[in-house]
Amino acid sequence: VSDTSLPIALSLGLALTSLGCASMGAHDVRPLEPTAPPHAAPASSPPAQRWEDVFARPAALRITALVTGQVYAGTKILIEGDNPRTPELLKHDQWVPSIAYLVDHESRGRMLFDAGVPAADDKGVCDFGRWPFFSVPCRATTDQNVVAQLAALGVRPTDLRFVAISHFHGDHAGGLHGLESGAPVPVLTTTEEWAAVNRTFPAFEGYLTEIVGGAYPVRTVETRRAVEMPYVGRVVDLFGDGSIWLIPAIGHSRGQFSALFNAQGGPVLLTFDAAHLAASVELRIPPGFVVDRDAALATLDRLIALRAAFPSMRIFYGHEPTQWAGKPRVVALATPRPPSPE
Ligand SMILES: [Zn+2]
Ligand SMILES: [Zn+2]
Repeated sequence: VSDTSLPIALSLGLALTSLGCASMGAHDVRPLEPTAPPHAAPASSPPAQRWEDVFARPAALRITALVTGQVYAGTKILIEGDNPRTPELLKHDQWVPSIAYLVDHESRGRMLFDAGVPAADDKGVCDFGRWPFFSVPCRATTDQNVVAQLAALGVRPTDLRFVAISHFHGDHAGGLHGLESGAPVPVLTTTEEWAAVNRTFPAFEGYLTEIVGGAYPVRTVETRRAVEMPYVGRVVDLFGDGSIWLIPAIGHSRGQFSALFNAQGGPVLLTFDAAHLAASVELRIPPGFVVDRDAALATLDRLIALRAAFPSMRIFYGHEPTQWAGKPRVVALATPRPPSPE
């Protein structure tokens, strides 16, 4: 035993103690109200519907992207650096945008998909993470956090039916604290993701107590509500009306979903971190950070198959900088068609 091993062991032990807080606060955790018809199908069942028929009946959805800040990341997180298909120019650290999406549904109300990065301090710093496991530099203006941008649009957190969190990494759930500072807004997640967050050492997989903790109610989407659909396998028709679909997208985390919006003007796919960058889908390259690489690749294959079948589908990736370069903070991705004249 060397002279230096004891302090290292001690500090690691302390680090693990502070990381190992298994309780993420006094959450009220319940399944989401079964608003969808309980047409749970056996795993090998034929597809419930064709996407062509679903897309022929689009919903009046308004999707507004809020660019909440930028995080600094590279191949450890965004895309495999040692993959021969990865372009050289993606093998360096770069500032990438972190997005929250406000969704207005014609009959189901307002909801948020992801909450973006934590609010920045007055120096524009919103760093998160915990050394030595990971540490993510983050920058934003003080009025760029999700709550401030919603307020600028006249939306209060209590106007939201729920906040759906694709997965609980700090650049997606970082805005939860601000949203939950008043009356609690239900947080929608999958049973698998919530189980991962509540594992013994969640920081190993990128979950931080200070971001995920709190007392907000949690509503889990039950896998038994999933239906078999072409190209993507078992997916959840969130409201049972074909308007918003959650596509299990595990691999980067244990319970992440991607979301497909059946909007007028054409379907919109938000991959979240199943593909941080467009190159992941275009060149079939998994994210740099994965908890299960095979699952991440299988997820990519499903999204690639859906894209191949519907080339006009618009895709927004988790953190693709070229999709947001020079964009104002608020970007309308889908708006309802104006009513046709009499
Ligand atoms: Zn992530
Ligand atoms: Zn991310």
